[in-house]
Amino acid sequence: MNSEFGMSRANAETIEFKRAPLWFEYSVVLHVHSRYSDGSGSVLDILEDAQASHIDVLLLTDHDTRKGAEDPGEGYYGRTLLLVGGEITPPQNHLLAFFTRELPSAQESWAEIVNQVSRHGGLSFVAHPNDLGNRILRLPSYRWTEREIRGFTGLEIWNHLSHWSNGVKGVISAFRSLLNPWKGLEHPRAEDLALWDQLAQEALTQDNKGVVGIGGTDAHAVVIGRGWFAFKVFPYRVSFGTIRTQVYLTEPLNRDVTHDRGLIKDALGQGRCAVMAYHYGSERGFRLWAESGKHSWPMGSQVPLEPNLRLKAISPVPVSWGVFHNGTQVSTATGYLLDTLVEYPGVYRVELYRGKRQRGWLYPNPVYVVANRAD
Ligand SMILES: [Zn+2]
Ligand SMILES: [Zn+2]
Repeated sequence: MNSEFGMSRANAETIEFKRAPLWFEYSVVLHVHSRYSDGSGSVLDILEDAQASHIDVLLLTDHDTRKGAEDPGEGYYGRTLLLVGGEITPPQNHLLAFFTRELPSAQESWAEIVNQVSRHGGLSFVAHPNDLGNRILRLPSYRWTEREIRGFTGLEIWNHLSHWSNGVKGVISAFRSLLNPWKGLEHPRAEDLALWDQLAQEALTQDNKGVVGIGGTDAHAVVIGRGWFAFKVFPYRVSFGTIRTQVYLTEPLNRDVTHDRGLIKDALGQGRCAVMAYHYGSERGFRLWAESGKHSWPMGSQVPLEPNLRLKAISPVPVSWGVFHNGTQVSTATGYLLDTLVEYPGVYRVELYRGKRQRGWLYPNPVYVVANRAD
């Protein structure tokens, strides 16, 4: 596969990239627990922190309840749109459910849980699929074990709390990493990315829509200890600065809750979103699409393999790019622009790294290139 790329945002290159789709980007924080389950904050407290953290959309996911939808209710709180989903919580196999009025019971079989969410028109995402638990923190593993079952929208490819807690090796290391929430979390875990790649390839061969990768905080702001010794494990504002899911909308939000909820649902359902390590940069303006002749397809799409099909992307800051075909890195690039010839069917996705240490910043959803059936 050939790879060509630009190094600067010179005008000529900007013109070359004039077909970058016109998208409106919003910053979503999802997978958040309030006092309605085992989080320490009321929804209104959390919303105050969300506004201070420049969050456009907060997707609340208490365990097995949507009480937040009654009190305080979905809607705008200052700049932040509150939407209320839920985390369905059997002993293992947690499932995030969004855009559904009814949550299935955690007592049901997992196949039935997944099925019910989609029957009710919702989206569902496997939460922290490779969670290991932690013996020192006395956390059991909440791993996804029902690996034969399909029908969900996608999975969390990065969950801040799970990644952090799995890595705690002792009390001192735990306290140290609480002061530096990013230590050891410079990239999503390889097993989570590998699982995503595997499911995405499978979806492509089975002609499914794809498997959408999202990133969650799993914010709880749990208080441990008492009195003078009380300590909050990642206050909401700290969690809100970790993993986000950026969504790319075809039109701007207009503060009409029904309209805006529909746009966010479309982007998350169709894979027009990217997992962002917000701590390493919050710049907006990323775009990823496939292009051939006069046609272009946004990220998340199925794309027919045509001669001169190209994968293109723009970053708002200079980065290092990794290009992956069916989970294998096939080329790299540096700079603002990525422009790669696509010669084979399969799942194409990119990763963006930044800084001297090449930390993982953005993990956008792939395009799914389908062999031309007429050939
Ligand atoms: Zn969970
Ligand atoms: Zn959770």
